[in-house]
Amino acid sequence: MATATSIARVDAAPLDVPMRAPFAIAGGAALSAANVLVRVRLSGGSVGWGEGAPLAAFNGETQESVLAAVRAAAPAMIGRDAGDWLPVLRSLDEDVESGCARAALSMAVLDAWTRSIRIPLRRLFGGATDAVRSDVTVDLVNAREAEAAARRIRRLGVGIVKIKVGAGLAEDEERVRGVARGAPGAALFLDANQAYDARTALVLLRRLRLREIVPVLFEQPVPADDWEGLGDVHRLGRVRVAADESVASRSDALRMARLRRAQVVNVKLMKTGLLESWDVARICAAAGLGLMVGAMVETPLALAAAAHLAAGLGGFEFVDLDTALWLARDPMRGPSFGPGGTWDLSGVTAGIGVVPRHEPRA
Ligand SMILES: [Mg+2]
Repeated sequence: MATATSIARVDAAPLDVPMRAPFAIAGGAALSAANVLVRVRLSGGSVGWGEGAPLAAFNGETQESVLAAVRAAAPAMIGRDAGDWLPVLRSLDEDVESGCARAALSMAVLDAWTRSIRIPLRRLFGGATDAVRSDVTVDLVNAREAEAAARRIRRLGVGIVKIKVGAGLAEDEERVRGVARGAPGAALFLDANQAYDARTALVLLRRLRLREIVPVLFEQPVPADDWEGLGDVHRLGRVRVAADESVASRSDALRMARLRRAQVVNVKLMKTGLLESWDVARICAAAGLGLMVGAMVETPLALAAAAHLAAGLGGFEFVDLDTALWLARDPMRGPSFGPGGTWDLSGVTAGIGVVPRHEPRA
């Protein structure tokens, strides 16, 4: 029987957002955000929004593949009660292979339902806090641009800078030194997106140490399946290591909890969807691993959903939700990356609190 919280419609549309500058990581560059916007409408009229942000350089997903996956999953969702969100999201985990499609659909279902009962999404996750503070990333730019970017980041009041590496040792060392010059006193952390082997990562760390630069964290220095390498970089490089590409499921998280090759796990909605991200975070927290929340090239809609997860659960040591800064225009209304890198969700009274400025043509 249909109730006010039954899912009545699921629509998907392209969400194309031009970027100020390309976002380059080891593996490729994104020149514009070619994302997917999902709208879930409940019988009682509540509407929820979700976003999928494929990044081919990260995991090979594209806007077309995510749109197709969302549209394929939609019919089975019609008539289900969004209030019974756990089995609805479990079905998505079972039936939808695309992490981005799962993320967009699960976000939209939970946004619609928490709006219909008028609670902010962060409260569904536990309501631990109502704000998180993000770092800002310097991507694979040259040393001079990196130094200028670091100065801008400091002017934003942000105290932690994430630096993409993996373009080659000499170039990487120069980039990190540029950031250290531009943001003296800031905490620095590196992300190689799998580009190194353990030996090369250790050489970079050693060279930086000679310059008195000691990163607080080294994210995914080696390929996803090189868990030994993660452990070597930690042990021999005397640095905490974060697993991003290496932990892309509950079973990866359980294995990391057992083997402890990394000390921090980067939780991303786009890798696994919302429910599995939630589980990954709980598994890691229970195992005493550090938590990071990260993103692909996302608009404030998906970024805010991730901020709700991190704020609601609490205990996230690293927050990497800065890609709103890369967009040439903000297609959304609501909370965004604010002063000092703060995602302030305290004013959100229902749902994610972020909606598109313009209704998409479905
Ligand atoms: Mg990463």
